[in-house]
Amino acid sequence: MAHQARKRFGQNFLQDQNIINNIIGSAMIRSGENWVEIGAGQGALTQPLLQKVSHLDVVELDRDLVTLLQHKFVDYKNLTIHSSDALRFDFSSLAPNGEKLHVIGNLPYNISTPLMFHLLETTDCIADMLFMLQKEVVNRICAEPNGKSYGRLGVMMQYYCSTEWLFDVPPESFNPVPQVMSAIVRLVPHEKPPVEVDDVKMLARVVSEAFSQRRKTLRNSLGKSLTEAEILELEIDANLRAENISLAEFAKLANALSRKPVEID
Ligand code: SAH
Repeated sequence: MAHQARKRFGQNFLQDQNIINNIIGSAMIRSGENWVEIGAGQGALTQPLLQKVSHLDVVELDRDLVTLLQHKFVDYKNLTIHSSDALRFDFSSLAPNGEKLHVIGNLPYNISTPLMFHLLETTDCIADMLFMLQKEVVNRICAEPNGKSYGRLGVMMQYYCSTEWLFDVPPESFNPVPQVMSAIVRLVPHEKPPVEVDDVKMLARVVSEAFSQRRKTLRNSLGKSLTEAEILELEIDANLRAENISLAEFAKLANALSRKPVEID
């Protein structure tokens, strides 16, 4: 059954067997683990996963592909296919008894960031995630301070997870051939966050405010929330820009904000 790739579903199917083998090798699958594949497509990763994992849940949005997968893998008893939108899927339902899920996927690039944050909402039930993403997004996820890739995505992701770039994947490895370079990243949720934050929403807010005007100094970008004196009290130079601020410093800024007494006019 021939399937016409659908652009709106971000369909770029893996073709290169070496890359597929490298991805499966990087997954470090052990017996007894529960695996979840997001966006199985025509099964390029599903097939080798089924050979190795005890149980595989697959979440695929395109109904035609769900039908194709059902036919292709009808003989596998260790597969459950969910015909759903991964952005709305309750991943914790796959781990009812406190088990931890191992998540893998060649993600549709247009939804990769919201999808990762959706998964992080259920971070308690996730052991690790191995994703194919646009290389630029992997660079941003793994970025350290003081570089141009460092921003909101990296700070927030590194609060939740340890992040590791594994290898790049060239466009020719897919059909249809995408316009961009891809890369594989491993995300492992921290058992305990690397920094203490009173309120994660406040961290997200400060980081977002600081990077919304990344050329501006903290004094200007955070001016509405914290005074220069309040920033200095934290031993942070208010003349620095967001891209110079570490996760630990963002945590201090967030905690200062959440501990600040509410002003009543
Ligand atoms: N894993 C396959 C396919 C990758 S293409 C391979 O490597 O060849 C991305 C896949 O994600 C497509 O099958 C697409 O239909 C699916 N997809 C797109 N949006 C989705 C969503 N919101 N939820 C689940 N799957 C989605």
